[in-house]
Formats: sequence, C-alpha cells, structure tokens
Amino acid sequence: MTPMAIVTQNPTTGEIVRTFEPHTREQVQAAIGTAHATFQTWRTTTFSERGELMRRAADLLDEDNEAIARIMTLEMGKTLKAARAEAAKCARGMRYYADNAEGLLADEPVDPAAVGATRAFTRYAPLGVILAVMPWNFPLWQVVRFAAPALMAGNVGLLKHASNVPQSGLYLEDVFRRAGFPEGAFTTLLIGAREVEPVLRDPRVRAATLTGSEPAGQSVAAICGDEIKKTVLELGGSDPFIVMPSADVERAAEVAVTARCQNNGQSCIAAKRFIVHTEVYDRFAEAFVAGMRALKVGDPMDEATDVGPLATESGRRDVEALVEDARAKGASVLCGGQSLAGPGWFYPPTVVGDLTPEMSMYAEETFGPVAGLYRVDSIEEAIQLGNGTNFGLGSNAWTNDPTEQDLFVRDLDAGVVTINGMTVSYPEMPFGGAKRSGYGRELSAHGIREFCAIKAVWIG
Ligand code: NAP
Repeated sequence: MTPMAIVTQNPTTGEIVRTFEPHTREQVQAAIGTAHATFQTWRTTTFSERGELMRRAADLLDEDNEAIARIMTLEMGKTLKAARAEAAKCARGMRYYADNAEGLLADEPVDPAAVGATRAFTRYAPLGVILAVMPWNFPLWQVVRFAAPALMAGNVGLLKHASNVPQSGLYLEDVFRRAGFPEGAFTTLLIGAREVEPVLRDPRVRAATLTGSEPAGQSVAAICGDEIKKTVLELGGSDPFIVMPSADVERAAEVAVTARCQNNGQSCIAAKRFIVHTEVYDRFAEAFVAGMRALKVGDPMDEATDVGPLATESGRRDVEALVEDARAKGASVLCGGQSLAGPGWFYPPTVVGDLTPEMSMYAEETFGPVAGLYRVDSIEEAIQLGNGTNFGLGSNAWTNDPTEQDLFVRDLDAGVVTINGMTVSYPEMPFGGAKRSGYGRELSAHGIREFCAIKAVWIG
C-alpha cells in the first residue's frame, strides 16, 4: 500500500489544487479522546434533541448545495448536476433518520409471562465511537448514510475519508458543528490508510464501517476480528443488468446507459455486465451502443456534460488495462475503448462484446464507463451468468413476465434485486452486499441497528 498524499487534485486538469498536512498520531489520539468524552453525554440525549440538530444539518446542507457540489466536482470529477443531486439526497437522508430514528429504535416488548418477568423488552443502545473509512466516489452520500443513523442512535463518529477528497470530509465535520452537534460528535481525521490500524486498535473505538475495495475491507476486518470489534463492509460490485424478451427493450437500453455511466461509471452499484437474451440482443445492443455514443464527455462543471473524467489517474489505468486485456484476447470494442488525449483523466463510454471467461473484464469490476455485453439463450443461463462473479451487491433484471420476475427475485444472489429499473440506494431500503461485496447493511432500520448494542432487559 503506497501512502497517498492528502490532496485535492482536479481530475479534469490533473492540477494539484490544495495539499493538506496529515494529522499526527497525537492529534488523532486527542480526537479519539474528545469523541469518547462526548459520547458519555451524547448517548443520554433524547431522540428529539438529536433530531433537531440533524434537521438543522440538513437545512445547512441545502443552503450550501451549490458550494459543496462544486467542491465534490473539483475533487473527484463527478458532473456538477450529479453533485447537486447527491448533496440534496444527503439532506433527505438526514431528515429521514431525524424523523424515524426513534421509531426504528423503539424498545421491543417481550411477553412478560413467557419469561417470568413483570416487564421485558429489547433495547437498541448506542455503542460508542465508530470509525468510518470511506471512498471518494460519493464523497458526501457515503458518509452521510453512515453518520445520520449513527449519530441519531446516540453514537459518535470518526471519519477517515479517501485521501483525494479532504475538502469534502472537512466540510462534513463543519456542517455538523454549525448545526450545533457537540465537539467530538463527528470528527474528520486527515490520515492515510496506514494510520487506520492504530485507530481500530484503540479500545475507545468500538466498531468500524468501511466502504471501498476488497483489500481495504479485508485489512479492516482482519484487525477488527483480532480486536473483537464489529464491522460493516460495503465493497465492490459487478452488477448484472439482464434483459429478457418480454421487456421494453428500448427503455431498458436507455436506462442501461444511465446505470452504467452514472457518476462517470464509478459507482459500486453501477450495472457493469449487460446480459441479454438472444431474441432481443441485436435490438438492445444497437440502442445501447447508440445511447453510449451520444453521451457528452467533458468538463464536469459544464451543465451539458454527461460524463466527466475518472477520479484518479490510477483508476483510469485500471480501466485501460481491463479493456486492452479483453481486446487482446479477441473481444470486440463496439464504441469507445481508448483514453482521450489531453489533460485530465477522461475515458469515453465504451461497450465491449464477445467477452469470454479468460478475459479479466468477464468477472472483475470495471470502475469506469465501460460495459460488457453478454448473449444468453435462457433465463437459467442469465441467472447463472448474473451470479457468476465473486460479487453480489446489486442486480437488475428487465422482464414483464411475472414468473420470470419471481425467479430473479429468488435466485439472484445479491443484496439488491431491481426489476425493470436500475439499482439505487434509498434511505428507506436496506443496502449492502452478498459474497465478496461485503456484509452488514446500511440505511433503513437495518442500517441504524448495525451500530447498536442489543440489550435484553428483564424486570422482575
Ligand atoms: P479503496 O482504495 O479501498 O479506498 C476506500 C477507503 O479505504 C479510502 O478511505 C482509503 O484510504 C481506505 N483504505 C484503502 N486501503 C486501506 C487499508 N488497507 N486499510 C484501511 N483503509 C484503507 O477504494 P477505492 O478504490 O478508492 O474505491 C472504489 C471501491 O469502493 C470500488 O471497489 C467500489 O465498488 C467500492 N464501493 C463500494 C460501495 C458499496 O456501498 N458497496 C460504495 C462505493 C464504492 P486512502 O484514500 O487514503 O487510500
């Protein structure tokens, strides 16, 4: 693991805009100490007190929408319109937990006669200081979907954000502070990946959540396993997007373009493998390739741009390598397939057909606007191929046949199954993966309960 400098480097130009001095171990220790001390009082506050502050944070986020959207676009290249939508979604997520945390964590009564008590119930109690290790691709949303439920449950949060989005991380600390959360309720640590281990091993830190790559997840889970601390892991995905003959094929192709190229193709739940029944393969492929070609690649600050640059130079190299490997082994590149010249880390929307299992792209995650096209003859083959990677995050299937819909829901081995649509995260629905996409859930009741101690209370 090469330590990354903590910098804002504009992926549209390659220019280093701002460099940040990492926090020292002493500063990190002090931050853990403050967080731990704050927890002792924060845990005793009421849901209504927490909710008031969370709603204020949501209002501030709405007021800051344009400014913070520009920071996200500057730091990681998502289009400005996508960044604005992300900030608005964060405010919505905060309000969801502000309004619903109390109900989601209400004591659950147990029949007292069954256990010989006068009263018995289950309580969801906060755990303490939680460390969140987060990726750059949704610089605000990834953090808020951890922070809003964690804080509403009475926990306090430490954030180790990706090294290329420090301003987004510092903004979040600032917005919670301005909303009136006490010092130490939410703290951004400016540290590299190597400095995560001492934080995880600190006895005052009770649990961790990581969203990112498999190696990062393995490392955090191994340390937390050693320390007997709970983890939630949200890792990669290579989501299938299956199209059956009864589907609205033109609509499926249109949604497929968005599902692949949202966030410049850098979403864990972007559809990556397009698995199409042979009866509609040609129709789908033609419409899909035309839609991918029609996207406007360019400056993400420009309102007309659909696809901005990839966030990092190494990320573009990874995408280039996957496409080159497939091409060299006989795949056909139906559009795109070559990095764009000039400054910035631009890679065009690309569709690759005739993929075979010896090509890395066949089963590996492509973290850029590159789609793999696969032809199948039956639903059984579609499901087998759909499940044929080590991942199991989201999955999408297009069919208007109710029997087929039931089969997809039953047999797709993924944390999310979306029929006639594309996978999206919602505050109201659980989000997380199967297999090597991770474990644990974010969002909904499941997300807020992940970082609670379940107490059985028996009163005689
Ligand atoms: P990454 O390298 O794993 O980075 C994610 C975070 O983990 C960063 O803060 C990074 O810090 C830190 N990190 C890296 N190695 C670590 C280690 N050994 N120990 C502790 N922390 C470590 O991931 P990425 O490549 O930037 O992000 C893309 C990946 O995230 C993709 O695989 C994508 O599918 C996945 N993702 C998953 C979800 C989901 O919900 N399932 C959502 C979004 C993204 P530094 O930046 O300092 O290295």
